[in-house]
Amino acid sequence: MHIVFAASECVPFAKTGGLADVVGALPRQIVKLGHRVTVYLPFYARVRARMEKEHAGAEFKYAVRSITIPFRYYNRFVDIVDGGVRDGVQFYFVDCPELFDRPELYGPRGGEYADNAERFGLFCRAVLEAGKQIGVPDVFHVHDWQTGLIPVYLRNTYAADPMLRRAATVLTIHNAAYQGTFPPPTTEQLLFPWDLFTMDKVEQYDRFNFLKGGVVFSDLLTTVSRTYAEEIQTPEFGWNLEGVLRERAADLHGILNGVDYTRWNPATDGYLAAHYTGSDLTGKRACREDLLHAFGLPNVAETTPVIGIVSRLATQKGFDMVARIGEELAQRDVAIVALGTGEPVFENFFRDWVFRHPAQVAAQIRYDEALAHKVEAGADIFLMPSRYEPCGLNQIYSLKYGTVPVVRATGGLEDTVDQWNAEQGTGTGFKFKGYDPRDLLAAVDRALAAFQDRAGWERLMRNGMGRDYGWEAPAREYAQVYEEAARRKA
Ligand code: ADP
Repeated sequence: MHIVFAASECVPFAKTGGLADVVGALPRQIVKLGHRVTVYLPFYARVRARMEKEHAGAEFKYAVRSITIPFRYYNRFVDIVDGGVRDGVQFYFVDCPELFDRPELYGPRGGEYADNAERFGLFCRAVLEAGKQIGVPDVFHVHDWQTGLIPVYLRNTYAADPMLRRAATVLTIHNAAYQGTFPPPTTEQLLFPWDLFTMDKVEQYDRFNFLKGGVVFSDLLTTVSRTYAEEIQTPEFGWNLEGVLRERAADLHGILNGVDYTRWNPATDGYLAAHYTGSDLTGKRACREDLLHAFGLPNVAETTPVIGIVSRLATQKGFDMVARIGEELAQRDVAIVALGTGEPVFENFFRDWVFRHPAQVAAQIRYDEALAHKVEAGADIFLMPSRYEPCGLNQIYSLKYGTVPVVRATGGLEDTVDQWNAEQGTGTGFKFKGYDPRDLLAAVDRALAAFQDRAGWERLMRNGMGRDYGWEAPAREYAQVYEEAARRKA
């Protein structure tokens, strides 16, 4: 089969979240299974910069020149840059400088560019037009709201196109909270007929909703964990799309993201002070010292457990609960190291927490890849109390690093962490259910108590380290979804 991935992010070219990791890793795995994979990305300023560096001044290769993308009062013209074949995957970049040659992916400082509907509408249409020139796939695999219009164009604007009619679509929802909603005139701006702007199609509470369009018109849907697939069919997690998602429940699959163990493995990780494995944990002690040194907490006793946090500081991640138990937690024999950036209210909570307990709590308010690895390796406990978590990567890394996760039982956290049972020696971490600071504190207390039994704790660490969340199994599940989607169009 030939699969086209269309996405707004992909490592190493452009990343703001977990989506980029998936689009960076899954295509390679699909190629390993014997399929052909092509990835389309917008030619953002940072992608252009990378290509210019790689080409050292030489001209890029263009796969297609001047594709016409019509809008209501004008046309735009798009080039397709040939990004080359990497690990067996062909990359193409949609070049429209007036829309994509900008410093950010979606908008300044976490905000939105005013023309995002036009930017990603154009991107979707350009992928279909480019496909007609370069190769129509069996399946378009589209991701999140930014590419949600590909199925909408395909089943409406292009419904009669003899080249595209047989192409199937799979939409993966990485986060249902971000839907890409715009004012009603977007319908005309993107040249859709007004009869698409109804509540059984792209309209949601009088907004033009990209993600909803994708949900309605894709052949199959996936999301990034089994539990999240259930959750998004409820009002708490569906953000008003629960109804349409329930209607498509039979076509919705939960497939857990894999992680890249070539980058996240304590036996080989280049960022660490020492290496270790499940059978020889001695190196973890040096990692812990290195971490405490990096955070300026040199006087933490060996018997004091260290809690690590690496996170976007967003409401989704549950730090409002952490703020509520901050003082009580600081009464315990514990040290806390936090790495993250995000909403000022949470950044300020961490600054304030450090100010009040400087010998116990340390925080670095920034994005730092190396330090993220050091926290995963050097901490004893990893805290991730998310309000919702489609999949989550950090808890999966922490399992591999023998850093026991304390998580709220939601989405991918529920699916990847098993409750520790001291009598039986089973489980990999500590989970709590309610979105309640008392439940969070109780789970942390259980972890702190378990830490005092060294033999039990090492068993718990090794249980997690032995888990395999690589990409091989999820890639096979995606391949089955592609085959099913293609069968439906055959
Ligand atoms: P999300 O995609 O919702 O942010 P995930 O757990 O799926 O959450 O992925 C987060 C990724 O971003 C991980 O690879 C994590 O290490 C990284 N990350 C988040 N914040 C930081 C930070 N401040 N510094 C370094 N890496 C970070």
